[in-house]
Amino acid sequence: MDKIIFATGNKNKMIEIRMILADLGAQILSQKEAGIEADVVEDGNSFEENALIKAEAIGEIVRNMPEYKNAVVLADDSGLEIDYLNKEPGIYSARYMGEDTSYDIKNSELLRRLEGVPDEKRTARFVCAVAAAFPDGTSEVLRGTMEGRIGYEIKGENGFGYDPIFYLPEFGCTSAELAPEKKNELSHRGEGLRRMRRILEER
Ligand code: IMP
Repeated sequence: MDKIIFATGNKNKMIEIRMILADLGAQILSQKEAGIEADVVEDGNSFEENALIKAEAIGEIVRNMPEYKNAVVLADDSGLEIDYLNKEPGIYSARYMGEDTSYDIKNSELLRRLEGVPDEKRTARFVCAVAAAFPDGTSEVLRGTMEGRIGYEIKGENGFGYDPIFYLPEFGCTSAELAPEKKNELSHRGEGLRRMRRILEER
C-alpha cells in the first residue's frame, strides 16, 4: 500500500490523520488532493454504515483513476451519544437543530434538555467509526469511543462542536479544555485511527 486517500474535506481531521498514520510510510492524501469532487449522501443507520458508504463510494471512483487504483480509501463518521436522550444526537450530530446552527445554541439546548438530571444519568460518549475500502473490493469498519458525561455549563476554548459540554470526570474538565495533543491521544477518532493503522499494517 503506497497511497491512502481519506474521504474528508476537513483540514483538522487531515492533520490528525497524518500524525497518526505517519509511520505507515504511505502517501496520505485528502479526497480533494486526489482531485475527487464527489459529495456522498450519508443515509446509513449507524456510524459504521455511514463510514462504509463513504469509503466504498469514493473507493469505486478511485478504482477508475489509474494513478490511485491501488490506493486504500479511508472514511470516518463521528458524533455524540447522550444516554439520557436515547443516544441523541448520534448520527445526526452535525445536523442536530440544523447544520448551520451555532454550537453555542446546540450545546445550550442539550444542557437545557438535561436540566435536573443527576450526574450518574448524564453519561455520554463520542463515537468514531473508521472504514477502509481496499483495492481488492473488500472493506473493514471499526469504532473508537471516548466516554464522559454531559457537564452543566459550556466551558473551554479548544476543540470544536460538542467539546465544551463534554466533561471528562477523570481530568476534571471538558474536552474543550484539554490541550489538542491530549485530546488526540484520548479521542474516539484517535482510537479508531490507531486501530485502523494496526489493520493496515497487517495487510
Ligand atoms: P462528521 O464525522 O464529520 O460527520 O462529524 C460529526 C459531528 O459530530 C461533528 O460535526 C460534531 O458535531 C460532532 N463531533 C464529532 N467528533 C467530535 C469531537 O471530537 N468534539 C466535538 N464534537 C464532535
